Amino acid sequence: MSTEPRNTTEPRNTAGPRRTAGPRLAIVGAGPAGLMCARMLYRYGIPATVYDADPSLSSRDAGGSLDMHADTGQIALADAGLLDAFTALARYEDQAKRRVDQHGTELAAFVPDADDDAAPEIDRGQLRRLLADSLPADTVHFGHRLARVDPAGDGYRLRFTDGGHADADLVVGADGAWSRVRPLVTGATPAYSGVSFVEVRFDDVTARHPAIAALVGAGHLFAHDGAGRAIVAQRNSGGQIRCYLSMRIEADWPRRAGIAADDEAAVRRYLLDAYDGWDARFRPLLTDTDAGYLHRPIHALPAGLTWPHRPGVTLVGDAAHVMPPLGGWGANLALLDAAELATAIATRPAETALAGYERRMWARSAPLAVAAGEGLARFAGAADQIPDHRAEHQRYRADAAAYRAARA
Ligand SMILES: Cc1cc2nc3c(=O)[nH]c(=O)nc-3n(C[C@H](O)[C@H](O)[C@H](O)COP(=O)(O)OP(=O)(O)OC[C@H]3O[C@@H](n4cnc5c(N)ncnc54)[C@H](O)[C@@H]3O)c2cc1C
Repeated sequence: MSTEPRNTTEPRNTAGPRRTAGPRLAIVGAGPAGLMCARMLYRYGIPATVYDADPSLSSRDAGGSLDMHADTGQIALADAGLLDAFTALARYEDQAKRRVDQHGTELAAFVPDADDDAAPEIDRGQLRRLLADSLPADTVHFGHRLARVDPAGDGYRLRFTDGGHADADLVVGADGAWSRVRPLVTGATPAYSGVSFVEVRFDDVTARHPAIAALVGAGHLFAHDGAGRAIVAQRNSGGQIRCYLSMRIEADWPRRAGIAADDEAAVRRYLLDAYDGWDARFRPLLTDTDAGYLHRPIHALPAGLTWPHRPGVTLVGDAAHVMPPLGGWGANLALLDAAELATAIATRPAETALAGYERRMWARSAPLAVAAGEGLARFAGAADQIPDHRAEHQRYRADAAAYRAARA
């Protein structure tokens, strides 16, 4: 982080000295999108500075497991020279998926073939660290929460919540669903989807939670009751299982139920009531969390959102197209957006690069956002919407081949 002294009349410039004669490039957000963009630019020899609100890379639990699709996330990782590092961490056996009803009766099961590499899993924290470790040490400036961005001269001034600022000629908004860069290009904001998750976590499951370990098995367990309640449990690395208790419910359900944010006992009672009628095997998932109850109301931008191109600024990942996490596209798109944007910046004049990138990104993400919204509308509803994961994996492989052929 810059050690520039604070100027008492002007906000502190945390960008540090300009490092090259090229445009000053600021990326806001060190999630998958921002870090991938910086990594690819670094490969092209283009310096960029990443600003993130988190105090450090490890200051929070990064969250659950992500499947990296062959046709999106894996292509970006390969382009970034990181496929081997990913492969070393990826969990191929955790591509397995099982669906059950609220009684625990199996509805469908997918067991991947031994050589299936279409969508292996990686912990979000491992992916973030893998990307961050691939960057020069001074690239990511943690502890920089963006408040807003203002036009300044021919470029932009990033203003941080601590009063500091940084100037940039080109700003990439990779700051997720609640992007502070997005207002430069559109007034659109994410809307509540009608579904909320409560995230719980179980550590050292073989020794400490053997019943949960046995229930979940490998990969993912999806359980739903056809009446607005679901449980999505997933293996993470290091003997952890993470679980999203998913309810079709008002966004402010804890307030409506009179539950204070830190009252775990009250949340537990609420969940036991909400999942009344479910088989007793699911009960430990509601009650035995090792990491409290994390509320995750699911929000989405309008599917197919576009904006009139604005010189010197663009969005990647969730900042551009946050969608419900149905289909597992969010992180995959974030990585490919970022890789394509960096390549466009490196190979084309700035404005053609940004506008061309945006057209491609919109065309790719819009149908997936529509599908994710439709998936959410059905979510935890009728049990007849069981995806064919074998066909899905074949599609990822075919689309990956088509993507590579198109640019060969
Ligand atoms: C419950 C759940 C499950 C999911 N499961 C999957 C899945 O299985 N597969 C999948 O592909 N996707 C999944 N997703 C979606 C996926 O998490 C996102 O699409 C992905 O993380 C987007 O990456 P990103 O880099 O665009 O944004 P983010 O990961 O949100 O990263 C944004 C970064 O910006 C920083 N930031 C935010 N605001 C500011 C600010 N004002 N100033 C500075 N920094 C800021 C944050 O600290 C963060 O580091 C899931 C999402 C949820 C909610």
